[in-house]
Amino acid sequence: MRLSQYLLPTVKETPADAEIASHQLMLRAGMIRRIAAGIYTYLPFGLRAVRKVEQIVREEMDRAGALELLMPMVIPAELWQESGRWQQYGRELLRLKDRKDAEFCLGPTHEEVITDVVRGTVKSYRQLPLNLYQIQGKFRDEIRPRFGLMRGREFIMKDAYSFDLDSAGADSAYERMYLAYQRIFKRCGLQFRAVEADTGNIGGSSSHEFMVLAASGEDAIVSCDSCDYAANVEKAQVRLPAGPRPAATQALELVATPGRKTVEEVAAFLGIELWRLVKTLLLQTDSGERLAVLLRGDHSLNTIKLCRLLGCQQVQLLDEAEVQQLSGAPAGFAGPLGLACRIIADRELSLLADFVVGANQADHHYRGVNLERDLQIGEFADLRQAQAGDGCPRCAGHLQAWRGIEVGHVFKLGTKYSEALGATVLNAEGREEPLVMGCYGIGIGRTVASAIEQNHDENGIIFPMPIAPYQVLIVLLNPKEDAAREAAQQLYDQLLQAGVEVLFDDRDERPGSKFKDADLLGIPMRVTVGGRSLKEGVIEVQARADGQQWRLTQAETADWLC
Ligand code: ATP
Ligand code: MG
Ligand code: MG
Ligand code: MG
Repeated sequence: MRLSQYLLPTVKETPADAEIASHQLMLRAGMIRRIAAGIYTYLPFGLRAVRKVEQIVREEMDRAGALELLMPMVIPAELWQESGRWQQYGRELLRLKDRKDAEFCLGPTHEEVITDVVRGTVKSYRQLPLNLYQIQGKFRDEIRPRFGLMRGREFIMKDAYSFDLDSAGADSAYERMYLAYQRIFKRCGLQFRAVEADTGNIGGSSSHEFMVLAASGEDAIVSCDSCDYAANVEKAQVRLPAGPRPAATQALELVATPGRKTVEEVAAFLGIELWRLVKTLLLQTDSGERLAVLLRGDHSLNTIKLCRLLGCQQVQLLDEAEVQQLSGAPAGFAGPLGLACRIIADRELSLLADFVVGANQADHHYRGVNLERDLQIGEFADLRQAQAGDGCPRCAGHLQAWRGIEVGHVFKLGTKYSEALGATVLNAEGREEPLVMGCYGIGIGRTVASAIEQNHDENGIIFPMPIAPYQVLIVLLNPKEDAAREAAQQLYDQLLQAGVEVLFDDRDERPGSKFKDADLLGIPMRVTVGGRSLKEGVIEVQARADGQQWRLTQAETADWLC
C-alpha cells in the first residue's frame, strides 16, 4: 500500500483526552477514531492489527477443535428473561424496542443465544462434544468507557461456548481452551499470566483470567514466589491497599484542574498538613510541567503507583535544593528528598479513584518496600517489587502484586444456562441430561491495545511482528529523485510479489517527518531508500524494536526481506 494514497491521519501532539500510552498512540498513529464515548471506527491501519489478532485467535480456536459461527448482535428480551439475566444484568445491558414495541438488547455476551442454538439443534450425546465460537461486535454500556479500545462500549470479542455431556468432558474442554489461550497470547507477543478469577455474574464454578502485565492495568493480581499460585486479588482475598478514599480522590481532582486550586487550598480541603499532601501531590512548576515528589525513605508504594498511573515517563533523582526550587517547599521541609517523577500533560485523574488510598493509614501500605533498593523504573518495576499484605493461600509463600489488563477469560459454567433454557441431550442410556457448558472470551481490541501498552517507546509503537499491520515500511527519502524513486518502487514490487506486507512511504514530505511517522507507526522493519547511501549503492534497513541497522545492496535487501 502506498502512503500517498492511504488514509493515515497521524498526529504529532498527544491527544488531550487520552490517558494511557496505547490510547494516545493508537489515536496518534491513525489507528482509530472516536465517534462517541467508547465507540470507535477502526481506520485502515488499526483494522489491520485487529485482523491480525483475529486471525491468530481463529487459527488457535480452529486448532483446538472449535467451530466458528456468527450470532446476531440484537437479541430478543425473551431469551434473557429465560435465563433471568434480563433483570440481573443491570445498566450495562443496552435495551431497545422495535417498531412493534417488542423488547431487545444489544448482546454484551451470548450465553443465552448459543444455548438457544444448541437446544434447537443438538439432541443426542453423539453430537458432543461441541465448541462454538464467534468473533463479533459486543455492546456493553460501560459506566466509564476509557482508554480507547481497552474499555469501549462497542468492542470486538471472540466468545466461545463449549457443550459436553458431563463435567469430565467440560473440564477437558476448559483445559483445551486454557492451552489455546496461552498459545494465542504468546503468539501476540504479550507478557501475560493466567490467574484464578472470580466467576462474577456470568455464573459458574471456576474461572481463569489472562492478564497482560502492565502498570496501567485496571486489575490487581498476586502471584506466589514459591508455587504456581496466581490470582486476581478479588479472588485471592489478600489484603492489598484498597480504596478509594473519596477525599483524597477529590483533592487530586482539584489539583489536576490547572489554576483551580492551590496546594494550600487542597491541603486545607483535606484537613491535613501541607507536607503530608506533598507526598502524593502534583506540583506545578514554572514551566507548567507537573511533578510528583517522592520522599526517599517513604515506604508507601501508593505514591509510586500514583505517579505511574499518571503516566510518569521517567523518574529522576533530584537533590534537595532542586526539589525545593521546583516545589517551592519551605526550607527544612524537604528532608532527604530523593525521587521526582516527571508527569506528562494532564491526565484523567478518575484513573486514581480505585488506587488512591491512605498513604498515611495503617494497613494501607504495601509492606517492606524500600524505595532505593526496590524501585527501578522500567516496565512494571514498581509493581514487580510490590508486596501483598498476606501470604500465599496455598503454600503460605511470599506473594507479589502486579497490575494487569484482562485480555481473556475462561469460565466453567456448569448447567446454569442449559437448565434455565432447557438445553438437554439424550445420554447413552436414553435419559435426558442438561448440557455442561463453558464459556471463553477474548477482547480483540483490548489485546491490540495491550500489545501497544507493552511495546512502545517515547517515539511511538513497536509492533510485535505477528500483529503488526505491515511487516516492512519503505521510506523513500525524496520522491523527486529519479534513481531513488525507481529503486524504491522496484523493491516495493519485489516485496509485494513475495507476499510481504509492505507499506510504501512515497509521500512528498520531508525526511524528518517521514522518520517521525515511521517511529510512530512502529512497523517492525524500516527500509530507507535515497540520499547519499543510495549513491553508494546502499539501502538502509533498520529494526524498529532495537534500532539495529544494516547497510545492504538492493538485491540483498530484497533477498533478506522476501
Ligand atoms: P472487565 O473486568 O475488564 O470489565 P469483563 O470481566 O467484564 O471485563 P468478560 O465478560 O470476561 O469481561 O469478557 C471477555 C473479554 O472481553 C474480557 O476478558 C476482555 O478482554 C474483553 N472486554 C470486556 N469488556 C470490554 C470492554 N468494555 N472493552 C473492550 N474489551 C472488553
Ligand atoms: Mg466488565
Ligand atoms: Mg473482569
Ligand atoms: Mg471477565
